[in-house]
Amino acid sequence: MTNKGEHTLPELPYAYDALEPYIDEQTMRLHHDKHHQGYVDGLNATLGKLATTRAKGEYGAIQALSRDLAFHGSGAVLHALFWNSMTPKGAPLEGELLDAVKRDFGSAELFMAQLAAATKRVEASGWGVVAYEPVGDRVVILQCENHQNLTMWGVDPLLVCDVWEHAYYLDYQNRRGEYVDGFLKVANWAYAAKRYRAAKG
Ligand code: FE
Repeated sequence: MTNKGEHTLPELPYAYDALEPYIDEQTMRLHHDKHHQGYVDGLNATLGKLATTRAKGEYGAIQALSRDLAFHGSGAVLHALFWNSMTPKGAPLEGELLDAVKRDFGSAELFMAQLAAATKRVEASGWGVVAYEPVGDRVVILQCENHQNLTMWGVDPLLVCDVWEHAYYLDYQNRRGEYVDGFLKVANWAYAAKRYRAAKG
């Protein structure tokens, strides 16, 4: 966000080729510079249209605008989380978040197996999401369709994996499972742990 309330594209926290061989440089350039930029632009355009709508008091397009806000807004937020959900060579799951995962899933292995399966089997375009659910004080694994469907109210996402084809098709073609396995090799569990601590408050 800038001072004017315009959303801007955040820079990658590492070089475009830093996640190779698991995520290739060309995919990262297209994904960050074109796709993520598109969601940021779409979000800003939608917020502008909503401001005009309020000023005119004409709400004929409010359903479409509300959908656009959910779609582009969720796309912009999830991609910002996604870049931080990876780090060169990966960062291990440990400490407080590891303890929570063992409590809620039985073991780290069972947690990882569910995360891989849920993410690989998202129907069409979407995301695998690790989140903290504060009412039950639990870690949960969610599937998200597109950017905004099949989510759970009130959760704080901790780590996300993009499984839209643009995230992997250049390098992995239809082999989403291999891409998800590659993502898990560079998963940044230190970032997830930091978000977990913040969410727990
Ligand atoms: Fe994406």
